[in-house]
Amino acid sequence: MHVSADLVCGLQWGDEGKGKAVDYISKNYDVVARFNGGDNAGHTVVHQGSTYKFHVIPSGVLRGCLGVIGSGVVLNPSSLEEELRQLSGDEKIVISKRAHLILPSYKLLDQKLESLKGDKVGTTGRGIGPAYAFKAFRFGVRVGDLFQDGLEEKLSEIRRLVESLNVEWIQPDVNHWKEVLAPYVGDDYKVLHEAYLEGRRILFEAAQGVLLDLDFGTYPFVTSSYTFTNGVHAGSGFNAKELGDIIGVSKAYTTRVGNGAFPSEIFGETADHIREQGAEFGTTTGRPRRVGWLDLVALRYAVRVSGCNKVFLTKVDVLSGLDKVGLITSYEVDGQRYSDWFDFSQGALELVKPIVEWCNGWGSVLNEGKLNANLLAFMEAVEGAAGAKIQWVSYGPSDHETLCML
Ligand code: GDP
Repeated sequence: MHVSADLVCGLQWGDEGKGKAVDYISKNYDVVARFNGGDNAGHTVVHQGSTYKFHVIPSGVLRGCLGVIGSGVVLNPSSLEEELRQLSGDEKIVISKRAHLILPSYKLLDQKLESLKGDKVGTTGRGIGPAYAFKAFRFGVRVGDLFQDGLEEKLSEIRRLVESLNVEWIQPDVNHWKEVLAPYVGDDYKVLHEAYLEGRRILFEAAQGVLLDLDFGTYPFVTSSYTFTNGVHAGSGFNAKELGDIIGVSKAYTTRVGNGAFPSEIFGETADHIREQGAEFGTTTGRPRRVGWLDLVALRYAVRVSGCNKVFLTKVDVLSGLDKVGLITSYEVDGQRYSDWFDFSQGALELVKPIVEWCNGWGSVLNEGKLNANLLAFMEAVEGAAGAKIQWVSYGPSDHETLCML
């Protein structure tokens, strides 16, 4: 019997706690697959008392799942090598032969592109954008190319393009890359379809979040890949028709790294408190994250566009102790209120005046195993506006600090 595959994606601007959500949920799956992004993503997982930092390896491998790195991922083999060092070596991982490689010069190109922009995107500078751009130019090198004739010619072509942009060419150590990757190279499409036909349970793990999607996010302050349901088929070859639950991860508040409009942003003492309590500093860059209230207009959009039917709400503990907690229920633009169908392009979002409604704060999240009544009221307001049920509430980094609402 086939079982549909499920997806976990971020409903905000990334850093929602997808690593924890996937680690928690993946105990019910046999295969966990990534399909977008590269080592710009940083997932922190606290598993059985140890902390792991993953960039492209699906965190489900810690629970014995087969980890698949799909065609839509861009791969830096040197950073992958670091990640692999955290593992015991017994984990099962397949890396798509179609995934594109991030060449060392792409990082320099990333910096150059950022320096040419008036409004900085605030990229992680890891060469992700150039890797996707070169792929679209059809100048890319794929994992499989490392093991085939013609690699030198491909690299020479790319070198010519890189140098024509006045960027230094750094020759990749392809022999070392081959050693690192050889044990894992495979065909993501085939592995995933076979698993599906065998009735194995597959979970897709997206990087970044809906609002960072290349097309449906707050362009141009977005990432260079497809960050939710739209990326599954493109980035793994898995038939999107076979998707079941779309699990969206959202914090009980909002954060954003880098530039771009952020209507619910707050400053001052409360923002500093949330930033400290929530350890809101980038996993990949260490940058302090911008902080704001949960934006229900944006959340509703993210739920709609991704098809999310279950929400994994994280970090409710971070807001514990605040007298009142804000929720952005609508935007005001030119005297008109919008709670729906808002255009999330950058220009439109900059003009927004956020309308805040206040909820009573909560102390401890659980009292004798029961959720605090004020937190419950907050969650009901979120569910009503988002149009999806909150199925899990996370109140700490560890896997046992999770409540499943049935
Ligand atoms: P991701 O990219 O979406 O996986 O998010 P990050 O890993 O960058 O950020 C999530 C951070 O929050 C990690 O350090 C997690 O361990 C931590 N975390 C996840 N859920 C919770 C929670 O419910 N409460 C607290 N306090 N921390 C959490």
